[in-house]
Amino acid sequence: MLLGALEAGGTKMVMGIADEQGRILRSSSCPTRLPDETTEDILDFFEGEKLDALGIATFGPADLNPASPTYGSITNTPKLAWRDFPLLRRLQERLKVPVAIDTDVNGAVLAEVRMGAARGLRNCLYMTVGTGIGGGLMSEGQLVHGLIHPEWGHVIVARHPEDPLTRGICPFHEHCVEGYASGPSIQARWATPAQELPRDHRAWEIEAWYLAQVCITAMMAVSPERIILGGGVMNNTDLFDMIRKNVTMLLGGYLRSPALQDMDSYIVPPALYPDSGLVGAALLAADAISK
Ligand code: ZN
Repeated sequence: MLLGALEAGGTKMVMGIADEQGRILRSSSCPTRLPDETTEDILDFFEGEKLDALGIATFGPADLNPASPTYGSITNTPKLAWRDFPLLRRLQERLKVPVAIDTDVNGAVLAEVRMGAARGLRNCLYMTVGTGIGGGLMSEGQLVHGLIHPEWGHVIVARHPEDPLTRGICPFHEHCVEGYASGPSIQARWATPAQELPRDHRAWEIEAWYLAQVCITAMMAVSPERIILGGGVMNNTDLFDMIRKNVTMLLGGYLRSPALQDMDSYIVPPALYPDSGLVGAALLAADAISK
């Protein structure tokens, strides 16, 4: 069995061919240009392969309601050319195989639960912290979609009292976590890209403060058994300990569980990074066949 996997991102598309276990056999990528030409690049990779199914883990927002007439379309993205683009339908028309779609972060959490850092768990939050902030949630073994899909990046947080920013950079919200803790917000605050800031810079303590608050919100609202933090900003691995300390402080001893005695194994990096989303797309394809 051959599975096609597409991790559709705002800046690049990553395509892969996987076996039935979700192991990536080969992959390629192309920049995200206008929808029509990008679709042709994607199809150049997949056409000619004897695919049994395709899974898409996409940037959003996307219409993930199978009963909707616009199922599988990108919806109100700030990338205007992609707005309302029927990604799933366009690929399915040409490839003529079952196609499954979910968010990139739901793909990532699926992959980490089946094969990575949360293997065997039924409740897990995967958050990515990069150009944007997003989260994929598995709850009781099911990927959560809800009304639209969760938007962990826009959880409201308390501003750090010493933050040089008086409001976050999100155009929609003054005080959401993406506005304060995404890569571009770090750049806006310090006039330096995150990857160029020294590890002892005050920036990281402020970053950890914000990310810890989202972890707390998740722990209180959906009670994940593990929280996985990935994305480019988390390449500074010092952040993990800083976030764990802030989480412990903010919890105030309120939640009691053996799992929380060891924060090092509760808040963790992804095991499959940077392929979590691509592997997740392959697993979505596998699930599309078994359905
Ligand atoms: Zn926001």
